Amino acid sequence: MLAAVGWKINWGGIKPPAPPSPRKGIPRGHSLWPGQAIVCSACGAVLFVFGKCLKCRNAFRASGQTCWNHVLVPVAPIRKFVVEMLVKRFHSSSAFREVLLPAVKERLHHHQQKHESSHDRRSAEIAVLKRRSRISGNQSASAKSSRGNKLNRWSLI
Ligand SMILES: [Zn+2]
Repeated sequence: MLAAVGWKINWGGIKPPAPPSPRKGIPRGHSLWPGQAIVCSACGAVLFVFGKCLKCRNAFRASGQTCWNHVLVPVAPIRKFVVEMLVKRFHSSSAFREVLLPAVKERLHHHQQKHESSHDRRSAEIAVLKRRSRISGNQSASAKSSRGNKLNRWSLI
């Protein structure tokens, strides 16, 4: 944002704090494709999504860096290639469409049900919190009004 107006923060040699990851709190097991779909040619472990790249699971410091393969594979070209290949195949093969469409519909249905159930759960939590807020608000309002009455009484005396 500052760069848009030509400004820059002088951090005095200190690195600026990294923005929080949009995937913070999401387990690696829920990785976006092609995360964990490709294996390392050196050790056979799966590759994790690491920013905009894939990196061998065993090349991370947290995994003890037991793999020497520190290659970072860009994700975008892989996704582009596979999506284009699937679209071509989808248009050229009726058998492919017959297999793919039901699988996609089932997956979407499953995802929607999961999303709806979490939405229902959150709506119920919001309703409970609103009820609690109203109750505590009424209690504090009545406490304030009783205090106000006492103050009014004192001011009248
Ligand atoms: Zn490896």
